Amino acid sequence: MTATLHLATGAASALFVQKYFPVKRNWIENAPKNFLFTADFINLNCVFVFFAGLLSHIFFDSFSHTEYSLQGQALMLLLCLEGFVTSLLVLFGQNSARFWLLVWGMIGAALPDALHFAGEYFNFEWFRIVHSLLHVYHGTIDLVLVGHFSEMVLVAVSIIYIRVQSA
Ligand SMILES: [Zn+2]
Ligand SMILES: [Zn+2]
Repeated sequence: MTATLHLATGAASALFVQKYFPVKRNWIENAPKNFLFTADFINLNCVFVFFAGLLSHIFFDSFSHTEYSLQGQALMLLLCLEGFVTSLLVLFGQNSARFWLLVWGMIGAALPDALHFAGEYFNFEWFRIVHSLLHVYHGTIDLVLVGHFSEMVLVAVSIIYIRVQSA
């Protein structure tokens, strides 16, 4: 599946699981002014949404889907572009608490495929092993073929959800 799909659904899953957060807090009132150096960057909820994002990757990847037809540098360029545009759509204007939750959801959702590329590029065997473990369910649900158009619909729904959902 596309990076856009995984990033957008990973970010959405970070907010989707918020009623199960291990630490409760009032996001809007407690949003600190200092953006980068705060407890929002890493905390228990961040770890929690990291795994939510990771699970969302495994979930969406399990449906049979269209793969990228590009390879090599062209694919890398496209992935960077997708990462940039999706991050902008998800993160622009968010307060710091929401920002970091969404970032950690996206990191979790990007990890399985990032391991794949890093494993190939750096020739790290254990990256490849973890990547293949995280992809054991890849394409196993054969109900429908999720094409790029359906992915874009899912992306739009995720972005709207992120934008209307308060956290
Ligand atoms: Zn795939
Ligand atoms: Zn994947």
